[in-house]
Amino acid sequence: MDGNRFSDRPADLVLLGPPGAGKGTQARLLQERFGLVQLSTGDLLREAVAAGTPAGRAAGEVMASGGLVSDEIVIAILRDRLAAPDTARGAIFDGFPRTAVQAEALDALLADAGRGIVAAISLEVDDAAMVERIVGRSTCAGCGEGYHDSFKRPAEPGVCDRCGGTAFKRRADDAAETVGARLTAYHAQTAPLIDHYAGQGLLSRVDAMAPIDEVTAAMAAVVETALA
Ligand SMILES: [Zn+2]
Repeated sequence: MDGNRFSDRPADLVLLGPPGAGKGTQARLLQERFGLVQLSTGDLLREAVAAGTPAGRAAGEVMASGGLVSDEIVIAILRDRLAAPDTARGAIFDGFPRTAVQAEALDALLADAGRGIVAAISLEVDDAAMVERIVGRSTCAGCGEGYHDSFKRPAEPGVCDRCGGTAFKRRADDAAETVGARLTAYHAQTAPLIDHYAGQGLLSRVDAMAPIDEVTAAMAAVVETALA
């Protein structure tokens, strides 16, 4: 769109949100609208390992032995990645930081590069509604069509609208206890990060239960305000 207005300052963002909050979709839309690059930690690690950079080789050794890649290695990989010109408009950090210590390390890295987080956007969900949303999902075993017990039932109960199949699958991860436990863990893990960015006056909470285009509009407004 009219991202050129913002070309003088990188819009580095942190995106926080539990699984199922639509983080991936929203990050993609922000990328398109503002020319940002989403830096998802899992992807970055895989790319660095494949590229065989020094930090990538270090990460590869740790991963091969089943260990957790240290913050230092992740920061080194991020430093390399931020040197690439495609991040000049800004980066969307997704999956890192996960702790307050990591957030401080990221702040220091960005400061060294003459940039900084302009906003931390927390996609907020209603846990009970989120459990209902995820737990009700099923897919047709025949054609893969998606259904939902509350929001999208087949016209004829138990028969796929698309292929007439009668077998449906549910993911084990979508069980209510699993989803609830995932949300509880997310909130516990994220609280210190929320505090970190709130303390810097950078935290914006966006209602992720709203329709997708409203969520996108709210996030875009946060970015525009941060850059104004
Ligand atoms: Zn089907």
